[in-house]
Amino acid sequence: LVSFRNVQKSYDGETLVVRDLNLDIRSGEFLSLLGPSGSGKTTCLMMLAGFEFPTAGDIIFDGRNLNNVPPHKRDIGMVFQNYALFPHLTVERNVEYPLKVRRMDAAERRKRVAAALEMVQMGAFGKRYPRQLSGGQQQRIALARALVFDPKLVLMDEPLGALDKQLREHMQLELKALHRSLGITFVYVTHDQSEALTMSDRVAVFDQGVIQQISTVDALYESPCNRFVAGFVGDCN
Ligand code: ATP
Repeated sequence: LVSFRNVQKSYDGETLVVRDLNLDIRSGEFLSLLGPSGSGKTTCLMMLAGFEFPTAGDIIFDGRNLNNVPPHKRDIGMVFQNYALFPHLTVERNVEYPLKVRRMDAAERRKRVAAALEMVQMGAFGKRYPRQLSGGQQQRIALARALVFDPKLVLMDEPLGALDKQLREHMQLELKALHRSLGITFVYVTHDQSEALTMSDRVAVFDQGVIQQISTVDALYESPCNRFVAGFVGDCN
């Protein structure tokens, strides 16, 4: 579904935070980008979403080079760690926003917003404002907003990072179930090893702007390709 081809990124024109990245994301998979802070995971997501651009190389999505495509024309949903909901808009209006950007007509917008809120079990909360919701509820709304326009790909950047442990574990199961039922592709950034290992089909382990290994969870455990991967993945036991 997505190919990063020889992608490099530098913010200051000197240091490469992503170095010659080659990555193929498969249609329908749950792929986690795992690695320590500063290893370049978020930068990869931002380039995929269209908020940052590669310094060199190409990103191909569904056969199309994304280099000059603005975010709202990419057919990609995104969920941030801090949810990034609009505080002055109700839940319904927040979820409706991507549909307005895409100039969908009002009747279709209403139908889709209702369906997206049902999907995350928040059908009764449409008239509330974000400040009137718990962290877990806000996270669900952010998810509904990312899914409402039927994207082929959903990107999540530490979406559960602000939640307490119990809710986090519960939401992990929900996200996994949602992924299975929707059949769309999820790319999930985390620095939490156990989260990546429990949720993903495949994991890409990042260090210093380079993918050290990309493989299924079992293969990461059984045959880590180097000491860094073995140490990093082993840390969660
Ligand atoms: P974390 O888990 O802490 O979010 P990460 O693996 O997602 O880390 P990135 O956020 O991609 O890493 O950051 C990679 C490097 O790029 C870091 O050294 C960071 O300081 C730098 N960086 C990220 N965004 C910017 C920016 N907008 N301007 C300048 N430097 C940036």
